[in-house]
Amino acid sequence: MAHTRILLATHNAHKRDEIARLLHAPRGSVLIPRDWNDEPPHPIESGFTYEENALIKARAFSRWSGLVALADDSGIEVDALDGAPGVQSANFAGPGADAAENIAKLLAALRGVPAERRQARFVCALALCSGERILFSARETCAGLISETPAGTAGFGYDPVFIPAGESATFAAMSPADKDRISHRGKALRRLAAALAAGELPIALGDQGR
Ligand code: IMP
Repeated sequence: MAHTRILLATHNAHKRDEIARLLHAPRGSVLIPRDWNDEPPHPIESGFTYEENALIKARAFSRWSGLVALADDSGIEVDALDGAPGVQSANFAGPGADAAENIAKLLAALRGVPAERRQARFVCALALCSGERILFSARETCAGLISETPAGTAGFGYDPVFIPAGESATFAAMSPADKDRISHRGKALRRLAAALAAGELPIALGDQGR
């Protein structure tokens, strides 16, 4: 039988908003952990890759809820730092670091590095699971440069210091629609939306009437 709802396997409100926006899902068909009274899981992201961590989260939230769960694991890779912070992006400046602290550490690590050596890319791995079973997975990237100083107030995380290739403004200085058009998460979620629309998955998201 087709599932009519999915659960977003994340505690990150910014990611949740981007995912819900990009899936164009019918009312009530995309749930968040807050929709439950039970304490949601906080799985340890012990994987060495984005893909492993996305699977850990999707499986944990699916087992907990009994629903199909969608997880995003993402990060930013900076060439001049040999790919750091990578899967450690959320905690680059230490456990529980906030975005400003992570950005400050990144800009300090790149101090004096010229524009032509400030290449970076965002990476997003998606995993959609029903219990242990993987229904869909995707990995997408968005290439760009790390700016010298933060600019813009939209978005989250490293958005104020990431200028996508071919653009002059940071992600944080763009509209959400412009970010979605080119972002790692936007590309990966459009693939999921296409697979859903094509009937390739045992899911038919429907209006839940609330
Ligand atoms: P995760 O929750 O372990 O996947 O952590 C992902 C981290 O990567 C976030 O906390 C951000 O620091 C960073 N990140 C991922 N995607 C984005 C994005 O679209 N913009 C800015 N930062 C991002």
